[in-house]
Amino acid sequence: MYSLAGTNVIPMAIDALRALQHRGQEAWGLAVPGMPPLKKLGLVSQSASEFKKIAEKYSSKCAIGHVRYSTVGKSSLENAQPLKVADLCIAHNGTIANADELAGMVGGCTFTPQNSSDTMIAASRLVSLISEKGRMGEALAVLKDEMAGSYCFTFMSDDGSVHAARDPKGFRPMVLGHKEADNLYMVASESAALSAVGAKLERDVRPGELIKFGPDGMESEMFAKEKERAHCSFEFTYFAHPSSKMEGSNVYIARKQIGRFLAKKFPIKDADLVIPVPDSARPAALGYAQELGIPFDEGLLKDRYSKKGPLRSFIEPHQSDRVEINRWIIPIREIIEGMHVVVIDDSLVRGTSSRAIIKALKRAGARKISMLITYPPIRFPCYAGIDFPSREELAAFDDGKGLSDEAVIAKVRSDIGADFLGYNDAENLAAAVGIPADSMCFSCVSGDYSSLGITPEFGAGARQKKL
Ligand code: SF4
Repeated sequence: MYSLAGTNVIPMAIDALRALQHRGQEAWGLAVPGMPPLKKLGLVSQSASEFKKIAEKYSSKCAIGHVRYSTVGKSSLENAQPLKVADLCIAHNGTIANADELAGMVGGCTFTPQNSSDTMIAASRLVSLISEKGRMGEALAVLKDEMAGSYCFTFMSDDGSVHAARDPKGFRPMVLGHKEADNLYMVASESAALSAVGAKLERDVRPGELIKFGPDGMESEMFAKEKERAHCSFEFTYFAHPSSKMEGSNVYIARKQIGRFLAKKFPIKDADLVIPVPDSARPAALGYAQELGIPFDEGLLKDRYSKKGPLRSFIEPHQSDRVEINRWIIPIREIIEGMHVVVIDDSLVRGTSSRAIIKALKRAGARKISMLITYPPIRFPCYAGIDFPSREELAAFDDGKGLSDEAVIAKVRSDIGADFLGYNDAENLAAAVGIPADSMCFSCVSGDYSSLGITPEFGAGARQKKL
């Protein structure tokens, strides 16, 4: 954020981070020029009693902020962001797949992803390139050829300039906004953050674009000119907030459309009821029900008052917490009993939540359970910003036996206990969202990592190398 009117942006930065909480719930932080970054563990709202004090202490016309969802590096306060290297603070959305390789280029540095974060390694390399090249744009133009991975960065320099950069393929989303009232420029992962502070969405940040905010306003340059795109398809079914607009599509409408397209692929006409797994699958379930004219209802409710009730289970770093959150999804017997239920979920990653939900639906008296998943089978790890780190933990992993798609689906169906299981496919999903499939990333589905620029080595402790 940068206010040309000189407004203290900290209260707005806090509101924007709260609006992005669904992207990371482990830690949050803020950075302003000339001060060590503020970092806190947990949700932004847990620090509500300190907001006034924070807004006074860190009062500034410019700031960067971050909510953390860890993919590389421990979930600790030390690794919470923004991080500071020399006079540069950095916040990162994404994953640097070849962080080990990059660490070797940072002279005399002993970072590894095990004792630090991939972001720290990238920031250290960037700072040394800036001192060599003199300009952020030129430094990024070199760094992008050394790094493999996904990255949306924001930077805050001690001289008060703010930069934002998006990787050349556009793996992760990033948008630009402006708020008239405070003459405020703003870049965020999602437009939900712009709406939270009353800023208007101007456009997506272009893949390969570097934006600078300073006393003279906004400047833009391209540090990469690649034409190929690889927008993360998982954002559209699970990750992003339904109110957000990215790559020209509103996420809620895209999800509803995905449900309609899923109905064409799997028209389960003898079902009595369509219910969503709360919360991300709700629009898709509605779209599915409307397309086939089957009643839609809420058969499962999340208990918001349990300790972990308000959290998203998939992005919790520990399996025990994921199980705990799913324990508090409660079925409504009066809606479900005796029914053939079509349950729609946004994705099936480890199978933890699907197993728990099907068990709960059976206990509530469902006669038959057909489960439909709006995302295709996830059979490979993600090295571009989502935490599916190993094949072994994926429900659709074929144990290295080279099973056919049908055999994998049969294995997962029996594992979760559903009577029927159907997955969406990449083409159907892309058509529903309205983005060509070859402009979206589906590496976790296909195992083709060419857009990321790596040939992955699977297995514990594997180190990825840039092609
Ligand atoms: S591998 Fe899957 S989750 Fe990761 S960026 Fe690509 S589509 Fe998204």
